[in-house]
Amino acid sequence: MFIRGVKYLEECNICESIKKGDLVLESDDRYIVYVCRRPYNNGHLIITLREHTPLNRVDPAVIKNLFKICKNCIRLLSEAYSPHGFNIDIIYEPHVAFQVVPRWNGDASFVSVFHNTRVIAEPPHLTLRYLREVSCRTGIKLLGGL
Ligand SMILES: [Zn+2]
Repeated sequence: MFIRGVKYLEECNICESIKKGDLVLESDDRYIVYVCRRPYNNGHLIITLREHTPLNRVDPAVIKNLFKICKNCIRLLSEAYSPHGFNIDIIYEPHVAFQVVPRWNGDASFVSVFHNTRVIAEPPHLTLRYLREVSCRTGIKLLGGL
């Protein structure tokens, strides 16, 4: 929501997370997958490109790869958390990015409805450690096969 008179952040959240690098699950010279710093739910992952490129300027082959990575994330998260489903959200700009959010039946509790906040049982750095363990155990590689 735009509110006149409010000073909005100039820095890009995705660039900030890439720069910090502390929650990166896998990356290469083009793609990066990291655990969301402010998750909507346990296991919330962000898949993105390193550079600022809006969706309408991305090559179709890159979009195809982003979907492949998204499917690999769903496989890994399914092994790790056995969710009932997923929400997939596409961020248009400045980086085209996918958010993959595991969902469980009844995970929108009264706290979300009445207090406009979420209870997250697992901090992001523990999610990262756990997903790395599951990746090693299962052999599921997020950027494999691109
Ligand atoms: Zn950025």
